[in-house]
Amino acid sequence: MAEFERERARMVDEQLAGRDIDDPRVLAAMRSVPRHRFVTPRQAAAAYEDHPLPIGNGQTISQPYIVALMCQAARVRAGDRVLEIGTGSGYAAAVLGELAAEVHTVERHSELARAATRALQPWPNVHVHEGDGTLGLPECAPFDAVLVTAAGPDVPEPLVEQLGEGGRLVIPVGEPRFGQQLIRLTLQGDELLRDRLMPVVFVPLIGRHGTAP
Ligand code: SAH
Repeated sequence: MAEFERERARMVDEQLAGRDIDDPRVLAAMRSVPRHRFVTPRQAAAAYEDHPLPIGNGQTISQPYIVALMCQAARVRAGDRVLEIGTGSGYAAAVLGELAAEVHTVERHSELARAATRALQPWPNVHVHEGDGTLGLPECAPFDAVLVTAAGPDVPEPLVEQLGEGGRLVIPVGEPRFGQQLIRLTLQGDELLRDRLMPVVFVPLIGRHGTAP
């Protein structure tokens, strides 16, 4: 146990603070969530390494740095209502659960949604939904921040529509073969500001407003 804590502290110091993660709330959240509980026992020893890991169903838990970068870019505040598309292991949802008031996360694979629901029991403010996240979650909108952890050809329109005033949408866009970009859209009045953050590699976003199943 103490060994995992040491590894987690080293992960935060070297992979996050040692790069460009400087939001103290994000660093604290990444220091507290036990990432090894979100991977299979076989992968636990590698949980704090600087790369993604397989979680079954052909999917991956993102590299710790990418999770921290997306949370920082989304400027998640303590009172925020957050939507995540692509629950996967549930790890990023747990980090968001530390940062925000209420988190809704959507996963299309029922097996992953079930496992994540169990892993997320210590975060009662995180709610797992099974379904096509490219449709968003209109019944829970509007959201202060939306994070998408799978990449589609374009930004799904429903996710933009479900942003509240000042809302931030962080999403990788592009096809695997042609390169994906992590971008941030910020809704300011009638304007949608667009920032390019960095080139990334994510699994495909599959659904009505993503890649066809
Ligand atoms: N945030 C996750 C990373 C998971 S990888 C973590 O911390 O572990 C991306 C996930 O997106 C995969 O589990 C994949 O099944 C899911 N996904 C892809 N398209 C989706 C869609 N349209 N709706 C919901 N989930 C989707």
